[in-house]
Amino acid sequence: MRRQVRVRFAPSPTGALHIGGAHTALFNYLFAKRHSGKLILRIEDTDKERSQKIFEKDIKTNLQWLGLKWDEEYYQSKRTTLYKKYLQQLLKKDLAYKKDGAIYFRTPTTGKIVVKDIIRGSVEFDAKEVEDFVIQKSDGGFVFHFVNVIDDWDMKITHIIRGEDHLSNTPKHILLFQALNAPIPEYAHIPLILNADRSKMSKRTGDVNFADYISKGYLPEALINFLVQLGWSDPKGREFFSLKELVNVFELSRVQKAGAVFDLKYLNHVSHHYLSELSIGAYYKLAKPYIPFKGTEAYHKKVLALLKDRAEYLARLPELMSYFYKDLDYDKNLLVFKKSSPAQTITGLSIAIKVLTVISEPSWTEKKLQQILDITATAEGLMPGDIFWPVRVALSGLSGSPSPVELLSALGKKESIKRLEVALKKLD
Ligand code: GLU
Repeated sequence: MRRQVRVRFAPSPTGALHIGGAHTALFNYLFAKRHSGKLILRIEDTDKERSQKIFEKDIKTNLQWLGLKWDEEYYQSKRTTLYKKYLQQLLKKDLAYKKDGAIYFRTPTTGKIVVKDIIRGSVEFDAKEVEDFVIQKSDGGFVFHFVNVIDDWDMKITHIIRGEDHLSNTPKHILLFQALNAPIPEYAHIPLILNADRSKMSKRTGDVNFADYISKGYLPEALINFLVQLGWSDPKGREFFSLKELVNVFELSRVQKAGAVFDLKYLNHVSHHYLSELSIGAYYKLAKPYIPFKGTEAYHKKVLALLKDRAEYLARLPELMSYFYKDLDYDKNLLVFKKSSPAQTITGLSIAIKVLTVISEPSWTEKKLQQILDITATAEGLMPGDIFWPVRVALSGLSGSPSPVELLSALGKKESIKRLEVALKKLD
């Protein structure tokens, strides 16, 4: 019988969940589920001074938000009896020794240590380069390498999937497994996440705090699809997957060795894809907390329907929506199209006001508005730039916006005419 796949995500709660952590957690989750295995969440909280409950909570709520369910959960701070037992064993076998109040692990001075890595193949290290290292500090605190290995063994971890930054720790870990007579799990050191200049992305050099992406209004689907493509790609080049679908296609052997560049533009592209798939009702529910403007639900929805396609993430909405709610502030020269003149623009705006004023509320629809403005322009011998352009600017204050009739329809008759009159006055 094949042994059951058991993997773990083992964050240290010394900081909030970061992008790299979420990436590692996702790869572990996908691998576990792909092989009908188990994902273990192991909180590595042996550093009493730096570990905090609030970070633990942040890590867990963010993983849940992503939909990455784990099957078992452990806290290293509750497992010291176990660690003490194995420490004694190593001391007894003279594989560890006391020095200056701390306990050191004795490493061999000759030979090779080979890390068999699913992604990187065999990576060889010289044993003599691995110096004896502390496994228990003089204050009694256990060191990461030691407890990490004891737990991987005790929790029957079959595959260790973690960031490439840990590759240099792996020879130490293999020596510990060997000293404990424990089987060595399989390794997969996944690529690091890099800035555009290929430097390692860190708190100092990038937006790595995971929760910030949630607050910006990226959907879980977007982050999952973005994160998985940091180092992995579908053999058929498919771009968008549900988490379940990813479980069926994800292969560790397809993960690249090289660091993966965090491309915010691509995240926005993926995010836009998922946001634009939403019905206006679902979109409104998600967008509501981001809307700082007063207005009825019906009005907000009208506005969102026009702007939905322009917002890459929901926190963009206040900026995109603002002209639907506030008085406009624009330069009057913007009203005049480059092929038009102030006089023609005044004519265009005056005629627009005249014909729009007589349209009844029930006829105030995009279709009707378009028809009437088209007919008027033709009848009056106006170019589109003499009428549609200034209407757009008068209603939005912008040169790029939804179409003039979409604006008219969303803003409603009263507000539209008010804005057109303001524009006309500006040109007087
Ligand atoms: N606590 C370690 C970290 O957060 C875990 C490393 C590992 O996965 O073995 O980097």
